[in-house]
Amino acid sequence: MPFSTLSNLSLTGDVLIGDQIPAAYSIDRSGFVPDGAPAVLVKAASVDDVRNAVRYATSAGLSVVIRGAGTGLAGGASAGDGSLVLDVSGLNRILEISPADELAVVEPGVITQALDTAAAEFGLRYAPDPASAAISTIGGNIATNAGGLRCVKYGVTGDSVLGLSIVLADGRLIHTGRRTAKGVAGLDLTSLFTGSEGTLGVIVAATVRLQPVPVNTITVAAYFDDVDEAAAATTAALTARVRPSLMELLDEASLREAQDHLGVRAESAGAFVVAQADGFGAQAEADIIESSFRQFTSRVLVGDDPQAADHLLAVRRAALPALERHGRALIEDIAVPRSRIAEAIRAVTAIAARHDTAIYTFGHAGDGNLHPIIVVPESDTGAYERAVVAADEIFGTATELGGTITGEHGVGVLKRTWLERELGPEASEVQRTVRRALDPSGLFNPGKTL
Ligand SMILES: Cc1cc2nc3c(=O)[nH]c(=O)nc-3n(C[C@H](O)[C@H](O)[C@H](O)COP(=O)(O)OP(=O)(O)OC[C@H]3O[C@@H](n4cnc5c(N)ncnc54)[C@H](O)[C@@H]3O)c2cc1C
Repeated sequence: MPFSTLSNLSLTGDVLIGDQIPAAYSIDRSGFVPDGAPAVLVKAASVDDVRNAVRYATSAGLSVVIRGAGTGLAGGASAGDGSLVLDVSGLNRILEISPADELAVVEPGVITQALDTAAAEFGLRYAPDPASAAISTIGGNIATNAGGLRCVKYGVTGDSVLGLSIVLADGRLIHTGRRTAKGVAGLDLTSLFTGSEGTLGVIVAATVRLQPVPVNTITVAAYFDDVDEAAAATTAALTARVRPSLMELLDEASLREAQDHLGVRAESAGAFVVAQADGFGAQAEADIIESSFRQFTSRVLVGDDPQAADHLLAVRRAALPALERHGRALIEDIAVPRSRIAEAIRAVTAIAARHDTAIYTFGHAGDGNLHPIIVVPESDTGAYERAVVAADEIFGTATELGGTITGEHGVGVLKRTWLERELGPEASEVQRTVRRALDPSGLFNPGKTL
C-alpha cells in the first residue's frame, strides 16, 4: 500500500485516503478524466503541512498534484493513480495590504475576487480578472499565469506578481522577488514559477501589485456586419495608440446564442465588440475608440453608466454558458498577433465547415486571444472525434499565423502534444532540463506540460 507509511505524515490539516477521496478531486473543469484515482488527499492548513506532504509523497513513491480551486481548463489539476493531491485552497488568508506600497501579500488559496474586494477599501484593486475570478484562487492564477478582460491594458497575472514563497520538491522553502517597484538582483525566479502549472514547486504565498481603482470608465460597444469589419475596427482603435482597458469580440453565432440565453432583445449582427477606456483620460480615449469603430459601422453605443455597461458585458460573459446548453463545450484558447484576428476567425469558420462541427468564436480581441468553442452535442455520435481533428487544425492555424496554442489557460495535459510542436525540440529540451534541475525525481505533476 503506498500509504502504509501514513503515520509519518504529520499534519494540522485533514488527510483522506483511497475511497474516502471525493471523485471531484480527480478532475478539473476541462472535462479531462485521468486513469484511476489519487491515493491520498492532503488539505493543507499551513506551510509546514505543505512541506510535510511533499516529503511524505517522496518517501511513499507518490507524485504530487497541487490543487487550488480546480477551475483549470487544461487538466493541470487532474489526478490519477499513484498521486497525492495537495489541496492548498485552505491557505486563504490575505496577510497584508499595503496602501503606501500598493501591494498585497496573500496565501495561495485566496479567491481572486476576494482580494480585489479587500483592496477596494483602500481605493485599490487587483487588476488580473479571469472570468473565473469569483471561483479561482490566486495560487492557481499564478500557476497558470491567468489572463482576463483587463489584460489588454493591465497585463496578465504575471505582470502583477512581485514575489513568491515556494516549497520545492525536497521540502525547502524559498522566497523569490521583492516588495519594491523595481529590482533586478539575480535571475527572475518569480517569472519562472509563474505559469509553471504545478510542475516546479508549490506556491505558498505571493506578493502582488495593486493598482488604483480608475476614476472614470467609459464603455463603447458596436455591432458590425461581419467579423472582418469588427477586426478592422479593433485594429483601427489600437493603432490610433489608445489603450483600452477591455476589448472583447463575439462572432455572429456566439452573439446570437448569448442574447438568446439572456433573453435580451436580439440585435442581429455579423459581430459584436465591446470596449472600455478608463482612468483620467477615459473620455478622450473613448472618443478615439468610437470614431475608429464608426469608420466601419454606424451602430455604436457609448456611455459611462455602469449598469448599461454591465448589460453589454453580460452578453460577453453569457457566451460560454449559452453554448454549454447545447452539449460539451471544448474551450480552445489560441492567441494570434492582433493584426491577424480576422484571418484566424475566418480560418476557424472554414475548419468548422470542413469537419462538420459547431464552432463559436469569441474572445479578447485587444490581446488577439480567441476562444473558439467546439460544441459536441451528446446525441451526435462521432462529433467528439471530428472535434479533435478540428482542434488540431485550429492549433495549427494559430502557430502558422505566428501565434500560440494557449493565450491564458495553459497546457496541462490536454495540449502537451502541441506544446512541443510550438516550442521546437531544442527549446523543449531546455524546458525539460530546467524542470529536472528543480524536481529531479519528477515529483510534481508528471505527464503535464512537457
Ligand atoms: C467559467 C470559467 C471561466 C474561466 N475564465 C478564465 C479566464 O478568463 N482567464 C483564464 O486565464 N482562465 C480562465 N479559466 C480557467 C481557470 O479558472 C484558471 O486557469 C485559473 O487560474 C485556475 O485557478 P484554480 O485555483 O482553479 O487552479 P487549479 O485548476 O486548481 O490548478 C490549475 C493549475 O495550477 C496548479 N496550481 C494550483 N495552485 C497552485 C499552487 N499554489 N502552487 C503551484 N501550482 C498550483 C495546478 O497543479 C494546475 O496545474 C476559467 C475557468 C472557468 C471554469
